[in-house]
Amino acid sequence: MSTQVYLIGAGPGDPELLTLKAVRAIGACDVLLVDDLVNRAVLAHARPDARIVAVGKRGGCRSTPQDFITRLMLRHARQGRVVGRLKGGDPFVFGRGGEEVEALRAAGIRHEVVNGITAGLAAATAAGIPLTHRDACRGVTFVTGHTQDGGEPDWAALAGLDTTLVVYMGMRHLDGMAAGLIAAGLAAATPAAVIERATLPDERRLATTLGRLPQAARAAAMGSPAIVVIGQVAALADAGTALPERCAA
Ligand code: SAH
Repeated sequence: MSTQVYLIGAGPGDPELLTLKAVRAIGACDVLLVDDLVNRAVLAHARPDARIVAVGKRGGCRSTPQDFITRLMLRHARQGRVVGRLKGGDPFVFGRGGEEVEALRAAGIRHEVVNGITAGLAAATAAGIPLTHRDACRGVTFVTGHTQDGGEPDWAALAGLDTTLVVYMGMRHLDGMAAGLIAAGLAAATPAAVIERATLPDERRLATTLGRLPQAARAAAMGSPAIVVIGQVAALADAGTALPERCAA
C-alpha cells in the first residue's frame, strides 16, 4: 500500500538542507500544499505537472485557517491524489503536524512524516552556536514565545532548567521574555542571540545579552521569522557576531 499523504519538513530555508527523503517525497506528489515559510526553491523537486497550492498561516498575517488546510488535504487524498504537505523546518516542531496526523489517522489515510531540519537547530548552527556544550549547560529546550491562548510561557520555570533556551515565534514577546527570565534569577548578562531568516541569503544575526535583548533587537529592527537563543552557549557565536550588539548581515 503506497503513501497517500506526506507531511514533509522543508527545512529552515536553504534548499540544500532538505533531506534526500524529502526530495523523493516532493517528487512523488500530485498536489503540494505549501506553508508560507517554505522556500519556494524546494519546489524544483516537484513534478512539472504537480499542482502547487499556497496555504500560509503565519501568526498575525492573513492566513488560511488550519481546518481548511486539513480538509483540503483530506479531500485531495480521498480523490486518489498523492498529497504533499510542505512545512517549514520539521513538521512536528511547532508545525501543527500533530493535528494533521490526528486527522489523517481518524480518516484512515496512509501517511508518512518526513523530518526536516528545524529552524532552532539551523539558526544556532548558522550563528556558530553549539546548542549544547558540556561546559555550559545540561541540555536544550525548544519553546514557543507565545501560547495558543495568547499567554506567555512559564519563564520562571524555564529559567531554572540550566539548559539553552531556543525560542520560536518570540519576536513580539522579547520584553516579557527578558523580564520574566531575569525576575526568575537568570543573570541580565546571560548571552543571547537573535537569528533572523536563518540559512537564507538575507539572514541577519544579533549577539547581545538577555538584559539588553529587547532594546538591541528593536534597534537592529530584527523581525520574524527569527529564533532567539539564550544561554552561555550564545557567547560562542561566530567571532563576527559575538560582540554585544554587533549586528551581522
Ligand atoms: N516547524 C517549524 C517552526 C514553525 S513555527 C520548524 O521546525 O522550524 C515558525 C517559527 O519558526 C518562526 O516564528 C520562527 O521563530 C521560526 N523560523 C522558521 N524559519 C526560520 C528561519 N529561517 N530563521 C529563523 N527562524 C525561523
